[in-house]
Formats: sequence, C-alpha cells, structure tokens
Amino acid sequence: MALQDDLRAQLIKQFAAEVVELTEQSGKKFYACPTCKRPVVKSDTKCPGCQQALSWQNIHVVEQGPTGPKFATLRFEVPAEFTKGDCRKCPLSYIAKTNTENVYECPLNNRVNCPLEID
Ligand SMILES: [Zn+2]
Repeated sequence: MALQDDLRAQLIKQFAAEVVELTEQSGKKFYACPTCKRPVVKSDTKCPGCQQALSWQNIHVVEQGPTGPKFATLRFEVPAEFTKGDCRKCPLSYIAKTNTENVYECPLNNRVNCPLEID
C-alpha cells in the first residue's frame, strides 16, 4: 500500500539520523541530510528538504571514493587439474567457431596471459 509506505517513511524520519559530512568536487566540505543528501546547516533539527530529523552528535564523514576504474573479483570453482591458461577446462571459457575449428575463447580476452589466480 502506497499510503502505508508513506506513513512508515514519515515515521522513520522522526528518528534522528546522524548528519553526514560530504566533500564537494572543489574540496569544500558541507553537511548534508543522511536521507536525501541535501545540504543542511548546523541549526537545523530537521532536514528542510525531506523532514528527516537530524542528529549532530556524531557527524558521519563520508569518504569520497577515488574516481577511475574499479575492479571486480569473482571466486569460482575450477577442476583440480586446472592450470592457468587452460581455457579448455576453464568454466569461464566459451566455444567460438572459426572457419575451420572450434576454439575455447576467453571472455576476458586473456587467452595468452591468463589473469586467474589459483589457490
Ligand atoms: Zn533530507
């Protein structure tokens, strides 16, 4: 029910939530509502934007993550006899057809320099 969800959201906002400290791109720090991230000022006890009750006891500093590429790591099981670069036994590989034969292709485009770490 939309109305109930709305009421619940309003109730939750009555519990004071710690203000967060964010850093702008320019390096300037500012305080923000933990719920809607709108800027708030020290005298606010409620967020003027979303009515979230604010607590100034423990200002939560939010570290801005570095920009640039991110990396994902996935652990998966491989056969005991699997060795690095053994695309034939690798669960990630898929079969690609060339004109004359089927080859095990690497979805990471690393058939020659297999980046998997086996332990
Ligand atoms: Zn807010």
